[in-house]
Amino acid sequence: MLGTTLDAFAAWCAEQDLPAYRARQVYAWVFARGAADFAEMTDLPRPLRETLTERWSIRRSEVVRRREAADGTVKLLLAWPDGETSECVLIPDDDRRTACISTQVGCPVGCAFCASGLDGLRRQLSAGEIVEQVVRVRELCGEKRLTNVVVMGLGEPLANYPALVQALRIINAPWGLNIGARRITVSTVGLPAGIRKLAREGLQVNLAISLHAPDDKLRRTLIPWAEKIAIDEIVQAGREFFEITGREVTVEYVLLRGINDKVYHAHELVKVCRKMRCNVNLIRYNPVADLPFERPSSFATERFLTELRQRGVNAHLRASRGLDIDAACGQLRRSTISPPPKSPADD
Ligand code: SF4
Repeated sequence: MLGTTLDAFAAWCAEQDLPAYRARQVYAWVFARGAADFAEMTDLPRPLRETLTERWSIRRSEVVRRREAADGTVKLLLAWPDGETSECVLIPDDDRRTACISTQVGCPVGCAFCASGLDGLRRQLSAGEIVEQVVRVRELCGEKRLTNVVVMGLGEPLANYPALVQALRIINAPWGLNIGARRITVSTVGLPAGIRKLAREGLQVNLAISLHAPDDKLRRTLIPWAEKIAIDEIVQAGREFFEITGREVTVEYVLLRGINDKVYHAHELVKVCRKMRCNVNLIRYNPVADLPFERPSSFATERFLTELRQRGVNAHLRASRGLDIDAACGQLRRSTISPPPKSPADD
């Protein structure tokens, strides 16, 4: 049910000859009141509750692991009925509470520095499974409101496009989770066609592009998909996104010690940034076991930030959250599954 729009559910209700107000009544229970079971909907007739229980489900996942970091970050590992798992994170920060969610099980992109890149793609998540992660994280907030959603967990969102857009509409809808589009960010490795399409969906969500390198040569050593996608093409799509939505693009840049954190990398990045309306989010790398990348020094990080700012780029250093609970994407899932699953790439 979490992946079904109100219109689609209302159509089902009409087929059952239910009064028109029932669809809204059920959705208010499911989304606004967070009911996990139709039995809780005490203002519905019992036979209807029974029919709903037979035909629909509100939760498909089980929370199989929960870890809380000293900084309040909470990471959940959800198991789906087919045994696959997804992780989602609550990141509390002053008056913000952000859910970080995944769109795929594993990830097909295979970035050299990423834990989930090691295992490849296992399967797509459905719209309902994407929304359910937000619901699970919202439950962690108690009485407080979940304020933001970032689609920055496992997977490449634009490579699961129909489910992503359906989920975004439900997360954003007043009858759904009612989270403002401007408080939702989709993070992509930079698929130009997907960026252009998203710009035209009429959703005012934010776009973050994971660049991680200022030139194609270096980028291709870090992100296999960069083989086929030049930075210039991504910049063109980013410009179009801004022209259509009026939303400034965020460039994500993970700083890797000795690899992309030098002054000349910063200067090259400035050149890229001058081609589109953007701001830059720098992230200090969280080391991953078995991968040969290191966290940059504080000195190199500050220097990089300063070089960008001195040249007029609006840049920020994103605080690393949940370092003590493997908060870099994919790490909780990897530390839970044993032995590592076979990926399609192994065949
Ligand atoms: S960093 Fe993101 S895009 Fe790259 S492999 Fe990891 S989850 Fe996929």
